[in-house]
Parts: sequence; structure tokens; C-alpha cells
Amino acid sequence: MKYFKYKSITIQFDEKNILKYVEKHLRHKDCETGGIICGYYTDDLSQATITEFCEPPKDSIFGRSTFSRGVVGTEKYLKEKWNKGQYYLGDWHLHPYSSPIASFQDLNQLEINSNDKQLKCPEPLMVIVGGSSNKDFNVYIFIESEAKLCQHLDKSIQDNH
Ligand SMILES: [Zn+2]
Repeated sequence: MKYFKYKSITIQFDEKNILKYVEKHLRHKDCETGGIICGYYTDDLSQATITEFCEPPKDSIFGRSTFSRGVVGTEKYLKEKWNKGQYYLGDWHLHPYSSPIASFQDLNQLEINSNDKQLKCPEPLMVIVGGSSNKDFNVYIFIESEAKLCQHLDKSIQDNH
């Protein structure tokens, strides 16, 4: 499990599936990829759990250092998730073999997502995967009208007990 924190909000997710997907993607391609992330918040909104890192919609645009997520199938997918108590929480994307630090364009996209009426998520997350082994994560949250970098919490010790 990975744990991140911004002020009183913690964000947690199991990284196994997304890392597996990224590895598979990089076996054939060296471009960026990404998708939406789904999950839920606790009632007091203090804890977000990401349950799914989705694969890219078919109309996404994959560049060497850019990724523009498409929308095909997203509305239907989110409607189905809604019935299961899961919601759009944000987007993820891969920076192949490079730092998972958000670009200016990424931060701009996060603000656009925040204002997207269809997504209904005013405080969206952005998870970026990258690093030399493509296993590093950065998590950003758009909150208080700004994109903020969340702090990575190392809870691996607790996980093993
Ligand atoms: Zn990026």
C-alpha cells in the first residue's frame, strides 16, 4: 500500500495493479499513458481510497512527453461505479523513465479537471508514476484553488506486521 497526506487528508492505494499495467505498457511502447482513478472518501472526507487506476480511453493521445486523456466510455463507466459507491477521484499518468514531478501542463490539467462539471470532483487528485524504474509515485491534489504536492508517508513497516 502507498500512503500520501495533504494536511488532514490522507490518500491510500494498492500500487500492485497499476505497476503491473505500467510494466506491460512499457514492454511495447515508450510513450506516456494514463487514465482516470476511481474510489471513495470516508464520510468525514479525511481519507481517500483509490480502488482503481483505469486504462486509457480509446480516444486518448499518447505522446513521448505528453498524455491527453480521452473521454470515450468514461461517462458510462463512472455511472456504473456510482451505483457501487465509487466515484471519480482524479487522473493518473506515466512519465516513462523520468521524474514523476508534474509539468506546468499537468498542473493546468488538474485545475481544468477541478472545474469540469461532468467529473463532479472539485478537489481532484493527480497521481504520476515515473522514476528510473517507473515505480515512483507523486500525488497532487487541487485544493484551496491550488495544486498541492502531497507528502509520501512511509508506512511499509506497519504493513508487515
Ligand atoms: Zn505529466
